[in-house]
Amino acid sequence: MTPVTCFDGKRVALFGLGGSGLATARALVAGGADVAAWDDNPASRDKAAAQGIAILNLANADWSGFHSLVLSPGVPLTHPTPHWTVDKAKAADVEIIGDIELFFRQRAAIAPTAPVICITGTNGKSTTTALIAHVLRSADRDVQMGGNIGTAVLALEPPAAERIHVIECSSYQIDLAPSMKPSVGIQMNLTPDHLDRHGTFEAYGAIKERLVAHADVAVIGVDDEPSKQMARRRAASGRPLVKISGEQPLDAGVFAGITANAGTLETRIVQVLDGKPRIVANLAGIGSLRGSHNAQNAAAAFAACFALGLTADEITAGFRSYPGLAHRMEEIGRVGRVVFINDSKATNADSTEKALTSFRDIFWILGGKAKEGGIESLTRYFPNIAKAYLIGAASDLFAATFDADGRVAYDRCDTLDVAVERATRDAIAAHGTGEIAVLLSPACASFDQFPNFEVRGTAFRALVEALPGFVPAGQNILSVA
Ligand code: ADP
Repeated sequence: MTPVTCFDGKRVALFGLGGSGLATARALVAGGADVAAWDDNPASRDKAAAQGIAILNLANADWSGFHSLVLSPGVPLTHPTPHWTVDKAKAADVEIIGDIELFFRQRAAIAPTAPVICITGTNGKSTTTALIAHVLRSADRDVQMGGNIGTAVLALEPPAAERIHVIECSSYQIDLAPSMKPSVGIQMNLTPDHLDRHGTFEAYGAIKERLVAHADVAVIGVDDEPSKQMARRRAASGRPLVKISGEQPLDAGVFAGITANAGTLETRIVQVLDGKPRIVANLAGIGSLRGSHNAQNAAAAFAACFALGLTADEITAGFRSYPGLAHRMEEIGRVGRVVFINDSKATNADSTEKALTSFRDIFWILGGKAKEGGIESLTRYFPNIAKAYLIGAASDLFAATFDADGRVAYDRCDTLDVAVERATRDAIAAHGTGEIAVLLSPACASFDQFPNFEVRGTAFRALVEALPGFVPAGQNILSVA
């Protein structure tokens, strides 16, 4: 835990006692703050009270004595409408902050030069965060990883000169962290998301940009126009900038070059320093880093780790042993030349697109609760599909898309167990010599048949592991909820 000693003696209102809220309350109390906490959910209040957190109904409280309101990132700050605690805090002239802000203030107080890498972007945050933490650990660095991934930031060990914090940040968290100033700030990419909470795409982008604007070194993806503009503004400031790309050569920075080698696509990470390009890593054969989206993630990880002094060899060695994150194009194992991929996190067509571009001969299990637009946007990848296996509520909708296209054979399976059985049977019987994938990439939410995508992916794993002749992939897959 990181006790927030810089709030010693201060009276703090805290709203939201879920996982990160509770950890934050404990860190404040451990640092000597006088915390008054509230949550609409009585069970959360009881749990906090049992851990010694003082519960106070903030709706009836006297706000004049509060130094700060610490808000959970899930609570609306501005849109669709500010939460009532926000109105009360503003009326009483009380600042509104979150756990990342507390972390940075504590760092400023106890270890101002402690290295901190912060990662944001619309997609790829968790993968890049986990990859960086893995690379640093495999190079024997003392690493703490958390934030929007796994462990709440204040539940991590405190910042220290020889300890590197790797923190995934959502836009909500950045919005509540006005003085964050990472050693390395990474902005991966920007596409419309969470607009209900930020009002406009511009507002959403402006929040993400704050993470890199104050970083000692800014690492910015330039594969989309809004992020490219952020890189331009950073360059104009004259402060250190490393541009990264997963798909195009750059005149400076780190990019992924994709070449065809004997029919398979190979990705190399190229670093351009002082105008000189050099190949620094080859991702060929690294099952956990397939696809051009992972090429961008690897480029970002390379840039960040290099900025902190790791050598190219150390970084490459870390890439090679990276186990991948559960449910994101996770290689579970093989039966013969059939590889089984769990991409249960792909709950929309955009995410599934990444998987469909990463394999050639796909026995595709999809379906669930459909998102708007269904799988219409994926028709251009249908030539990569050997056969599709439909499950869940979206079956009729997706069958209609396949019928209209006419290129994809499909089977209505209804449930995941039937789909795995039939896809495996067909994949094993398929002709040819190359790699064949049985891919769960649903392009749908799971809620019609499963509580969440993790349970769906875990069910897929269990079915696959029970197949005759199954050989597991490398162990140690990091599990992130
Ligand atoms: P996040 O934490 O931002 O949600 P993840 O690393 O968990 O991102 O990846 C979620 C999904 O986003 C992946 O399954 C993949 O489909 C897609 N994705 C991952 N990295 C990228 C990237 N760099 N660019 C675009 N999409 C990505």
